[in-house]
Amino acid sequence: MEWREGLMASNKNRKTELKKRRSHRAEMKRQEELAQARSEGRLIGDQIMPKGAIKADVSKQKTCSAGPWTPKLWYVDTRFSCTDCGKREVWTAKQQKWWYEECQGIVESKAVRCRACRKKRKEGGKLQSRKSGS
Ligand SMILES: [Zn+2]
Repeated sequence: MEWREGLMASNKNRKTELKKRRSHRAEMKRQEELAQARSEGRLIGDQIMPKGAIKADVSKQKTCSAGPWTPKLWYVDTRFSCTDCGKREVWTAKQQKWWYEECQGIVESKAVRCRACRKKRKEGGKLQSRKSGS
């Protein structure tokens, strides 16, 4: 939580600085953005969720950290390169919600392999355990 509190504090500082610099227009724009985000259900606390993102259920998230951690407030489609074959794939917001909230994947984890390589590993693991079991 420490990190998030620090972030909020710096946001507040930035806000007062903006006001000092008589940047009234920026403040108006922010208010406009907040109002629009609120009407579209994209406002979480004082944070604006990007368009296309899915709101997260923080209470369902798990962490391996014993200390402070940063929960995910929303999920958004993420591009990554597969660590096995290098293929570029999109980890969708929906898949992330499923992973973190239904599968109880820890928030520190993320997708590293494409679908094909995950399948390959899963099948390979099964074969290996069958071999060692006999
Ligand atoms: Zn791959």
